[in-house]
Amino acid sequence: MHADIVVLPGDGIGPEVTAATVEVLQAVAHRFGHHFTLHEHLIGGAAIDATGQPLPDATLAAARDADAVLLGAVGGPKWSAPEAPVRPEQGLLAIRKALGLYANLRPVRPHAAAAGASPIKSHLLAGVDLLVVRELTGGIYFGDKTRSETQATDLCRYSVEEVERVVRRACLLARGRRGHVTSVDKANVLETSRLWREVATRVVRDEFPDITLEHQLVDSMAMHLLAKPRAYDVIVTENMFGDILTDEASMLAGSLGLLPSASLGEGCVGMYEPIHGSAPDIAGRGIANPVGTILSAALLLRYSLGLSQEAACIEQAVDAVLDAGVFTADLAPHDAARSTREATDAIVQQLALASEQAA
Ligand code: NAD
Repeated sequence: MHADIVVLPGDGIGPEVTAATVEVLQAVAHRFGHHFTLHEHLIGGAAIDATGQPLPDATLAAARDADAVLLGAVGGPKWSAPEAPVRPEQGLLAIRKALGLYANLRPVRPHAAAAGASPIKSHLLAGVDLLVVRELTGGIYFGDKTRSETQATDLCRYSVEEVERVVRRACLLARGRRGHVTSVDKANVLETSRLWREVATRVVRDEFPDITLEHQLVDSMAMHLLAKPRAYDVIVTENMFGDILTDEASMLAGSLGLLPSASLGEGCVGMYEPIHGSAPDIAGRGIANPVGTILSAALLLRYSLGLSQEAACIEQAVDAVLDAGVFTADLAPHDAARSTREATDAIVQQLALASEQAA
């Protein structure tokens, strides 16, 4: 197959982890006889430096025309002054909104070999396989903001339609898994959460009688996620709660650097990115963990291109490399840590090896 993929490296370690992932995508294309055309464009701080805008028109136009978008990360201290007129993160919010990417999928499946890097006891991690579906284009991140000398406000707003579509997406995903959805809100305090709970209850009752729905308040969910992570299958929640819970859930896996995400709208076009940020503290040193971005490429193949077998090959190659103890500095002590280059080479070699064995 032929596919056009837009690559947005962004800032900090973004260019390092996307470069690694492009190599993996090309290796998959070679193995399966596909042709992926990869176009690089600017976003975030790099785009502000070059054009003054965090999301240049050319980037958005290319993303609209592409089959899928692969993103590194945006942001960094250079663009973070409180008085900065534009911020890199605005580019990210704008592209998600413009492409209508309302559902952010964040799978968390701790890898046994990396369990030692997690602060959670390993007996709690065995068998954990959960999927957080975070609403991505509504809520407090997008509401009106005000600021005066003495106070500031951020409006949290959700419509019925915004809740319905993301809950439906979570239920459809749960059907392909264990059929259990946990909807997370703060319905004891927030009006938006009471709406969220009502809508989630109705959608599951009327449209998904085969799905078991459970409601959790976000504060107790934060606790349960660490105390009994195996109890969860699909977790669906609003934008900010999902942002926080998924960073917490990353600790089940041992590092932010391991976790992928997919942002989907109504069609096949999606944007795929690791859940971590631009990690300015390690940028440019060649030590970033590329696995979160490489696994995001696997999600890209599965959800945007319908290439499930190819996606599984990447996931198996990553599993094999982690099993072999190839860990970057976020997972291994300094003297045992491998570089981004070494980890990427190991994954590409594993793909080639699997290809030879299959031949
Ligand atoms: P971060 O995720 O960038 O880093 C948190 C910690 O995790 C750091 O110690 C970092 O070194 C480490 N880390 C992250 N990814 C890693 C990887 N792949 N390999 C090894 N270690 C890794 O979060 P932060 O420090 O809070 O934010 C830094 C910048 O990134 C900020 O400007 C923030 O706004 C931005 N950010 C962007 C995104 C995005 O682009 N989607 C997401 C979160 C934060």
